[in-house]
Amino acid sequence: MTGPVGSGQGPQETAKDGRNSMERKGGSGPEDEAHPETAPPSGDVRPRSPSRGSPGSTRSDHFQAVESVRVDAYEIPTECPESDGTLEWSSTPMIVVHVRAAGETGMGYAYTSEAAARIVETELAGTVEGSDPLDVPGIWEAMRHEVRNLGRPGIVSSAVSAVDTALWDLKARLLNLPLASLLGRLRERVPVYGSGGFTSLSVSELQSQLEAWVSQGMRWVKMKVGRRPGDDPERVRAAREAVGQDAGLMVDANGAYGEAQALELARVFAEAGVCWFEEPVTSDDRAGLRRIRDRAPAGMRIAAGEYGWTLYDFVDLARAGSVDVIQADITRCGGLTPFLRVADLCEAVQLPFSPHTAPSLHLHPACAVPRLLHVEYFHDHERIERMLFEGFREPRAGWQSPDLGRPGHGLELRRRVAETFRV
Ligand SMILES: [Mg+2]
Repeated sequence: MTGPVGSGQGPQETAKDGRNSMERKGGSGPEDEAHPETAPPSGDVRPRSPSRGSPGSTRSDHFQAVESVRVDAYEIPTECPESDGTLEWSSTPMIVVHVRAAGETGMGYAYTSEAAARIVETELAGTVEGSDPLDVPGIWEAMRHEVRNLGRPGIVSSAVSAVDTALWDLKARLLNLPLASLLGRLRERVPVYGSGGFTSLSVSELQSQLEAWVSQGMRWVKMKVGRRPGDDPERVRAAREAVGQDAGLMVDANGAYGEAQALELARVFAEAGVCWFEEPVTSDDRAGLRRIRDRAPAGMRIAAGEYGWTLYDFVDLARAGSVDVIQADITRCGGLTPFLRVADLCEAVQLPFSPHTAPSLHLHPACAVPRLLHVEYFHDHERIERMLFEGFREPRAGWQSPDLGRPGHGLELRRRVAETFRV
């Protein structure tokens, strides 16, 4: 699956800054209270290229339309078979999208099936090409309309995510700004937590992985639970022994437990000082999460949100009082455009925010969002991103900092390396 795809030219109309442009146009802003993703009334949301030489024209008038959208699909084997509470895997699928305009190229990606690449080719490329690359939220609206009848959750949302993040990278490169500066930084660096601790690891492997992250200066580490619930108390105690008393110990059940079982184990985990219980039951069960949150031991945060595919999913979690922390994944929720809206939702309802996996793609946005708690430094993805992307940022003493000397998110695909994983 490769090469420039789609075609098309869009009509014209502009906004000069990306993030709030649709709101100023009277489009899908917060004023649409009943439906956070409701489209502008005209139905024609396609961003239009700026009219040349008009009064008040700016530097943006010199930019051209998006010329091409390219998508590639890869499958990267894990070091060994891995598992969590509800899934086993031996490879990680990934799509990478490149968008071009005015001699610059933006890159985005998502950890999802090769099928998402087909969605990019057949449904999204033609919508994006010809659009004004500065009007990313407008292009996002157009993509959302285009996939309406396919259904947003899952593969389709990840396809939109990869294109949207590529477009934001392109815009930052066109403006010769690091993405964090384009969005407006709230902080210069972000705290990261080590995440892995798969249920496929032996106790000693689990201990050495978690201990290594703490030794590198990370303040929190996360392990998986739920595959063999009877073993979990001992594995969690062993993890605590390895990381010492000061590290924040987090567990993630990936929805493996029943409600009563989760509550019982929450009390056991609390004895080992567990501070975070992620998806104790499936995050589809908002009421169940809420009941666990209400009865969980003091000091233990209930977290979910990685399967938030649309803004409604996060609104639902917040309205139901299901979580103490909202997670969102930029490669699933529809990209940076909705990711920023989720962050604003967290600010509005006073919930801490923690981006899920894909650390390199979250680094710049995490510098710009309010209520940030920390960023997940996920074992499988940091391994892939270090291998595939020139510009990968190593954490230092538990923090990651964006390279402000490079435009965009600062990442370039190492095509020769990636080629060996092509599907
Ligand atoms: Mg999780």
